[in-house]
Amino acid sequence: MGQGIAARPQEKEELLAMFEEQIVEVLEWLAAFSPDEAGGVTRLLYSDTWLSTQHALAERMKSYGFVTEFDEVGNLFGKLPGEHTEASSILTGSHIDTVVQGGKYDGAYGIAASLLALRYLHDRYGKPKRTMEVVALCEEEGSRFPMAYWGSGSIAGKRDFEQVAHLQDIDEVSFVDAMEKCGFGRGSGRSSRRHDIGAFIEVHIEQGAVLETEKVAVGVVDAIAGQRRMKFEVTGESNHAGTTPMHMRRDALEGVSAMILELRREATRQGAPLVATVGRLNVLPNVPNVVPGKVMFTVDARHADEAALGLFCKWVMETFKRLADERQLEISGMEWFCEKPVPMDAGIIRHLDEISRELSISSKRMVSGAGHDAQMFEHICPTGMLFVPSRGGISHSPLEYTAPSELAVGVLVLTELLYRLGYGEEAL
Ligand SMILES: [Zn+2]
Repeated sequence: MGQGIAARPQEKEELLAMFEEQIVEVLEWLAAFSPDEAGGVTRLLYSDTWLSTQHALAERMKSYGFVTEFDEVGNLFGKLPGEHTEASSILTGSHIDTVVQGGKYDGAYGIAASLLALRYLHDRYGKPKRTMEVVALCEEEGSRFPMAYWGSGSIAGKRDFEQVAHLQDIDEVSFVDAMEKCGFGRGSGRSSRRHDIGAFIEVHIEQGAVLETEKVAVGVVDAIAGQRRMKFEVTGESNHAGTTPMHMRRDALEGVSAMILELRREATRQGAPLVATVGRLNVLPNVPNVVPGKVMFTVDARHADEAALGLFCKWVMETFKRLADERQLEISGMEWFCEKPVPMDAGIIRHLDEISRELSISSKRMVSGAGHDAQMFEHICPTGMLFVPSRGGISHSPLEYTAPSELAVGVLVLTELLYRLGYGEEAL
């Protein structure tokens, strides 16, 4: 067994039982602040329920012995000051906001797990060698305003007040007014930008079904996938569905159907971590008795390797052109969104692999197909992510669920990692 917190097998079971009870209590408590009438949890940035949740969380952090602080965008920090005040801080947490009618676990789990892990370490070992902080990031989802990663991006220097100056929500409430009504905004508190973070750790539900299907307890994230999005327009000829013989048709939808099938075949052949999706299709004139003359559609492609993703997108462009040419269809396409893959820190990955092995917890390396706050931190400090299973892979839904025992395993691994980073022999 390991160097750290669960040195005896019996201790592991005791800790799991304790974390299981605690994590359920904290998650139910957090969810209760922002129930959606239609089911699930809705906690949009700078809403009343968002504000009451952040303040309640601050009170709880204080009661656990943390020193609390909000920054000027409303990120909440609970600090355990370290012995070596000059050393950089270890930050752990996730986002407090949700999508409309989201679940209890996305974001909230990472905060609750961090809170419990640090509280346990503090209660058992006292002052850490270096400052440890749990963070409830104010916003990640982009659900209220057209802006995502506002909390983590503000800390990492990738978001600033200029970028939100003219944003409004669907009810035409300005971003700045909503922020100021909650008591935040430029000059309201400590600047959000940080230069003193030594590592960022985020635990999160997988939001996919790989861990559940493969019966693996935790996923050690290698990288957050890069994403590219393309849009295409394919033009044929609209014509009478009764009087146009099959061989005389230039059916845009038939051509696009061939492209979609070919895309799926190639993505399946290449396999994980590549995924590719046609999620939107607009057919013109979209009438039952007319041969489709024009189709607009999108492709979303993701991969952990930038070069492989680039090659795949080149293949898509060439293949779609060939399939269009074969049918005398015209095609135009462009890439309109490109986000590079974000690798997680090799040292943190190594720790997570070792911890899983030492604690006899099944784990696998995986790529996150979804975006996370961790990708903002990666360019300012070593960053790591850990996943726990999501039942049925369901997320952004009231049906989001992870069993208490599975949540507890994530807390235990996180606790051991934080011990190593803040208390152990290698902490500084
Ligand atoms: Zn999330």
